[in-house]
Amino acid sequence: MTVPVDTLRRPRIKPEHRPYRTIDGNVRIGSVIHGIGAEIEDPQGWVWTLVETMDGTREPSAVVGEVLRAHPELPDLTAEDARQAMADLLDAGFVEDAAAPVPVSERERLRYSRGVPLLRWMDLGPRTSPWDAQLRLRRARVLLVGVGGTGGYAAQSLVASGVGRLHCVDPDVVELSNLNRQPLFRESDLGRPKVTAALATLRALNSDVTVTGERREIRHPADLAELIRTGAPEAQSEPKRAGTPQAPNEPNQAAPPQAPNDPKQAGAPEVPYPSRGSYDLLVLAADRPDDIRRWANRVCLAADLPWVDAGYRGPLVTAGVHVPGRGACWECLRAGEVARRELRLAPGQDDGVASPHLPWNPATAVTAGLSGGLLAHAALALLTGVPALDPGFRFGMNLMLPGDPVLQRSPRRPDCPVCGDGPVDGATGAGGATGAAGERA
Ligand SMILES: [Zn+2]
Repeated sequence: MTVPVDTLRRPRIKPEHRPYRTIDGNVRIGSVIHGIGAEIEDPQGWVWTLVETMDGTREPSAVVGEVLRAHPELPDLTAEDARQAMADLLDAGFVEDAAAPVPVSERERLRYSRGVPLLRWMDLGPRTSPWDAQLRLRRARVLLVGVGGTGGYAAQSLVASGVGRLHCVDPDVVELSNLNRQPLFRESDLGRPKVTAALATLRALNSDVTVTGERREIRHPADLAELIRTGAPEAQSEPKRAGTPQAPNEPNQAAPPQAPNDPKQAGAPEVPYPSRGSYDLLVLAADRPDDIRRWANRVCLAADLPWVDAGYRGPLVTAGVHVPGRGACWECLRAGEVARRELRLAPGQDDGVASPHLPWNPATAVTAGLSGGLLAHAALALLTGVPALDPGFRFGMNLMLPGDPVLQRSPRRPDCPVCGDGPVDGATGAGGATGAAGERA
């Protein structure tokens, strides 16, 4: 995306990117965080004048005039030089329009007054408004499968951050053994369907978000495909199908009537990976059945739906960022990881033997919180484009080796049974070995 400098009324360097001058006269801008900051050589000193003048009080032509006036000793410096430097700074994401209108209510401006500056800080694309990313989030429609530890923390983050719509799916009831790590539930929720308790907590957290849910178990890839296809209940013209498990005495799970604010969404920027279907993103935080990630990979590829997943295997916490057609799919990554780990398996031996497969799921509030936090970060990045991620990878951390960051990235495999060049197995293909060695949510 290109934003011409002259569309900015009063350009300024983003406050979070405040520049300073190094001892050798260079201009450092964008903070010294790796991945954001830049250093600009400035032997004549006019770049420093430029960034100081871009303080949000002048229009672009006045900035240019000020720079030329301040440097009469540089007869070769032209207005075009200064304007081009301003355009380069804008393209690099260091500039915003101080006069851009705030396109949200006062309530939203206050509620998101700490989150929007962080998005602005991480956003390296040229934007007309620092609220662009927040508006993309507000129009986003998310399907969340699993509201336990990972899913609970992720849901909390997404709802607190102001996602537009969140539909939650989970088959379980709240048990005492959940309460060491699942943030949406209280002792008073024991025995209640998780989805019922989760909806109450999430709606109380942010009533501006449309939170819906259903108690439902995914037993087959077709269940997941149907969920994705049908969308959230309030979007349906008919009541839920017979046979969809609903807990007795469950409160009405439909959206509160005042929730959708579509009129406000008119003209809002699109999410980076627009979807044709009912959702913009699947957030997978379930660990049952064992093959659910494999199913999600195939179903989402068939539906052209971006998805993220996260979980833990003991102290190893990871999240995956997947966009159909963009880089390696989940199965490509998994095959690459099995090769990388050099498990020294015999031919035909399943990689599941290399990891303990337990009837319980070792986890604490720390591993679930990290897992859910990484999952929410991946979701927010795909929905807002901030930060811009190149999909097709897993990232995370190993709590046993905090200095050893986890990054799994492999090229797409031409022989991948899902995204490879051969015939595609399709959404219903559950094939392959079990995902026993995969992370748990
Ligand atoms: Zn693949």
